[in-house]
Amino acid sequence: MAGADVVLQGGSLLCSHGGTATVASGSTRLTVGSKGVLVSGGEIGLTFSESCVSAAPTAGVATKLTVGKMPVLLATSGGPTANSQVGAGTWTVQSAGQTKLTAV
Ligand SMILES: [Zn+2]
Repeated sequence: MAGADVVLQGGSLLCSHGGTATVASGSTRLTVGSKGVLVSGGEIGLTFSESCVSAAPTAGVATKLTVGKMPVLLATSGGPTANSQVGAGTWTVQSAGQTKLTAV
């Protein structure tokens, strides 16, 4: 089974309204090119450019690669967003921020 790119600090998420959010922080224990990978949990609560807020992913969390017992987030992930102004939506990964490290 082919892996998917691991999301890195500096990667971005896209919501269904066209808003974007940048992954501001990552793991200090596993890095690619000096930037930390996004450990699952770090993608929750990010604010998108048009005010959506990301909720926990429903897919795309690694099953084999973990950091500190927490799975890393993959480029195939996505989940719901909350937004009191324009209504709930969904988010996907717009850019993983790197293409060197893949995982399943
Ligand atoms: Zn949105």
